[in-house]
Amino acid sequence: MSDLPEYDVTVVGGGPAGLTAALYTTRLGHDTKVINRGGGRAAMMVDTHNVIGVTEDVSGNEFLSTAIEQIQSYGADYERGKVEAVERVEGENGEEGLFHLTAGDTEVLAKQVIFATGFSDVRPDPPLPRTGRGLHWCLHCDAYMFVDEPVFVMGTGEASAHVAMIMLNFTPEVDILTRGQEIEWSEETDQQVRAHPIDIVTEEVSGIERGDDGWLEAMTFEDDTRREYRGGFPMYGSDYNNELAASLGCDTNDDGTVAVDDHGRTSVDGVYAVGDLIDGHNQIPVAMGEGAKAGIAIHYDIRTFPMSREEIEAAGGEISTEDVPAMAEELRTQAREHAGKAGEAGTSEAAGDD
Ligand SMILES: Cc1cc2nc3c(=O)[nH]c(=O)nc-3n(C[C@H](O)[C@H](O)[C@H](O)COP(=O)(O)OP(=O)(O)OC[C@H]3O[C@@H](n4cnc5c(N)ncnc54)[C@H](O)[C@@H]3O)c2cc1C
Repeated sequence: MSDLPEYDVTVVGGGPAGLTAALYTTRLGHDTKVINRGGGRAAMMVDTHNVIGVTEDVSGNEFLSTAIEQIQSYGADYERGKVEAVERVEGENGEEGLFHLTAGDTEVLAKQVIFATGFSDVRPDPPLPRTGRGLHWCLHCDAYMFVDEPVFVMGTGEASAHVAMIMLNFTPEVDILTRGQEIEWSEETDQQVRAHPIDIVTEEVSGIERGDDGWLEAMTFEDDTRREYRGGFPMYGSDYNNELAASLGCDTNDDGTVAVDDHGRTSVDGVYAVGDLIDGHNQIPVAMGEGAKAGIAIHYDIRTFPMSREEIEAAGGEISTEDVPAMAEELRTQAREHAGKAGEAGTSEAAGDD
């Protein structure tokens, strides 16, 4: 076990939340590894909305590959793989030790673990429009696309009734499609939703009509009716990828999100959770903010300096110049060579611009 590679931080999940956390921990001088299965929610984005500085025509995969190149350029290790197990190894003298992570043939040890594993949207059965071209999974991202357009919301639970009523802020044409299933929302919600100008269509969908550009144009139903739609939202819930966090004993909330404090700390020492895996708005800027906060919190927790008076005493009463800086040699070398380093070629001064 002691022969295994050891990191200050291992991040499980490489979406916007995990990659941002890794960016911070790496640039703050901590050896960091990201293990990412790939194909999360950000990877599903056909185009990117609500991320200031990123234009809408950037796809989720383009966004993520730039982010991966960024963290690697600072010296973070990035590996494609699915983490199957995380255990706490007993340290010397029986105290809690490092975390041991397994992802296929890869095994690593880490002082701190960040879970950024997100969730999977529960997908209704086909026929369905194409994701990003009529089938949309993110209200705050895509409601804007449907101003004054005919919209559907699929589902039978509280969330579907609620989202249908919210969509009336954007368009006058909203249908709920129950697809032949029993309505599950409460009697109170039923009265509320039926008082809004929303059609509740109970027939199952039999077909999807698309334009040449792939965008949804209409749906047909088993009673041979046809309704025009530009797009809509399936509302069947979320499966949180919380198994690894739960296996370490992290507290979870009733909906399956992992419980954290304001900095992403879970109920287990040394374990953090960020992004869609925790309670919040399920947006890229929010996920990135949570990743940044957790990265900075870890830096506060594990940085070497300033040493406390007790630590200085234990170190012999004085810190030698040979003991500084505290950064690992590999990250120091990377930082010295990085384009972001002061005075490097490419800065206006070095290029002779005044
Ligand atoms: C279709 C769609 C469009 C969207 N559009 C927008 C938008 O325009 N703007 C916006 O702000 N938000 C948008 N969102 C929401 C946004 O994608 C999420 O809020 C954001 O991706 C959350 O980031 P995350 O890192 O927490 O999770 P994710 O992006 O889901 O990443 C989680 C990663 O963890 C990995 N993982 C899971 N389990 C393991 C494991 N055991 N081992 C290793 N890796 C693991 C997954 O494979 C995945 O790569 C959209 C969502 C969807 C579904």
